[in-house]
Amino acid sequence: MTSDHSHLPSETALRAKALESLLVEKGLVKPEALDAIVETYQDKVGPQNGAHLVALAWTDPEFRRRLLADASDTAAEMGYFGRQGEHLKAIENTPEVHNLVVCTLCSCYPWTVLGLPPVWYKSAPYRSRAVSEPRSVLDEFGTELPENVTVRVWDSTSEMRYLVVPMRPAGTEGWSVEQLRKLVTRNSMIGVEPALPPEQVAP
Ligand code: FE
Repeated sequence: MTSDHSHLPSETALRAKALESLLVEKGLVKPEALDAIVETYQDKVGPQNGAHLVALAWTDPEFRRRLLADASDTAAEMGYFGRQGEHLKAIENTPEVHNLVVCTLCSCYPWTVLGLPPVWYKSAPYRSRAVSEPRSVLDEFGTELPENVTVRVWDSTSEMRYLVVPMRPAGTEGWSVEQLRKLVTRNSMIGVEPALPPEQVAP
């Protein structure tokens, strides 16, 4: 049996651990406080929140209207608010328009509904190429769009962060919000991929 424990943690992880030990030893932080923060970002804040909003928008026209009109308030009403969640705008993919989100300057991202940004989102190539050649970037994610679809790129800032509402996949008629949520991936809400096809998730 191979054991994960035989692998040393990354240098970053070791340094974080050393820093944590030192802060605790000096009485500057309580371990429980750190655990609570880690737990928040592991379990409570993440793309499952955004997926919930998208699935509701797919099934409830009034919710969809409110989400597109004012995503910050609508997300907050559902309990999804906090750091990096202010000034949220929801943008909807249609058969004519595909939306793609980037932060060209740094890594602005809607933490409350998507969690922490993936490494590639923060990388220099993604930040520049999402704007200069969005279709090539989409190709690399395996997302091929018909020529007649307009690709709209949204540049995030600390003043405005974006949540893409992907198109509801065909063949999901009659699915519940809980079932639909499983089709809404993080990448589909950044706009680099469509939502999963229904056959990839057991209904
Ligand atoms: Fe940024």
